[in-house]
Amino acid sequence: RSLGASASDKEFIQVVIRVRPLLERNLVVGDRNILEVDTVQNTIDVEMKGSDRKQATPVQVQESPSTSNRETVVTMRSYKFDHVMDSRFEGQPNFASQEAVYELIGSRIVRCAMDGYNACLFAYGQTGTGKTHTVLGNTYPSEKRGLLPRILEGLFEELAGRKEASEAKDSSVQISYLEIFNEQIHDLLVPPPKSGVPREALQVRYHPILGVMINDLTQSSCSTIEEAMELVDFGTRMRSIAATSMNSRSSRAHTVFTFKFEQTSRDGETQMAQIQLVDLAGREQEKSSSDNKDRLRERQFINTSLFHLSTCILNLSRGSKAREVCAFRNSRLTLLLANSLSGNSRTGMIAAVSPASSDLDETISTLRFADHVK
Ligand code: ADP
Ligand code: MG
Repeated sequence: RSLGASASDKEFIQVVIRVRPLLERNLVVGDRNILEVDTVQNTIDVEMKGSDRKQATPVQVQESPSTSNRETVVTMRSYKFDHVMDSRFEGQPNFASQEAVYELIGSRIVRCAMDGYNACLFAYGQTGTGKTHTVLGNTYPSEKRGLLPRILEGLFEELAGRKEASEAKDSSVQISYLEIFNEQIHDLLVPPPKSGVPREALQVRYHPILGVMINDLTQSSCSTIEEAMELVDFGTRMRSIAATSMNSRSSRAHTVFTFKFEQTSRDGETQMAQIQLVDLAGREQEKSSSDNKDRLRERQFINTSLFHLSTCILNLSRGSKAREVCAFRNSRLTLLLANSLSGNSRTGMIAAVSPASSDLDETISTLRFADHVK
């Protein structure tokens, strides 16, 4: 049974940029669109205002007419990726819908996993750029559902197809859903404890043969997409209940969704693989003056884990020899992903960016990160 493998299936990593539309709140503050996207060449050009932005002062200074003339010089910085997806203008020919994003990135993950590779997909970027929209999207089965429900659909479909074609006798899918907050792992498939009682953190270790082992993590079996989505909805609700202020906390935690599946062939052989989807914590630059101590600590954990993640990906994409040196024990995030980041695996990264002028610095920093891991 051929799933229509593409050239990118052989590559260890596929890096994709997704640009979200300008939002109402951008328009209210008069944000401009500063990105030029070429979805054929897969380049993205960023308009840098002035010839040297670094020297621009944050406070407005009175300028003489001659200097303000020079200020209008516009420079562009250009980046190239495996793919650049433009979700700014619905209805335009190159508009990247949720379905198009799945076709490009999600279906590859399903194909690779069905071929027996562990596969992993990260959503990276500043808070508010569309990571959760890309991963979860609107409620299933809306047309705006994200990668996660579509990957599950694809997986169940492929497994059923193999059974129908008598290539597999049996199959099972197990789901787990957790978050990493301040280097602590919390199970999202169990209800939170009574208020006042802290959530218990799960212990994780790496077994040389069995791989990553997380004590007491809920692994729920499911046999249909509806059952699976019920678990996803439950976990997503737990995530917001756990948070004192939902938006801020959920953007400062990494969320890791894992499905393991097993197929038994007619002659009794079993094949196992897993797919992991990660909605990464928002990668914001440190604004030490406005942040309190807790926030700084959280930010340090996030930055450190993202640094280790990029190092691991970089080592792995440099070839098989470097795979062994992937230092995944350096952070909870990389340790949890060790099955996906070592041995035979396939990875995808979707870096979400905002096209708004006020997000310029974060957009540049995200594009740099994405450029770096490739
Ligand atoms: P993040 O998870 O990166 O913090 P969200 O996914 O929550 O960001 O998106 C922030 C806001 O932008 C939400 O209101 C979301 O609906 C909107 N948004 C993000 N991406 C898109 C897109 N591609 N099309 C339309 N709206 C989007
Ligand atoms: Mg989010």
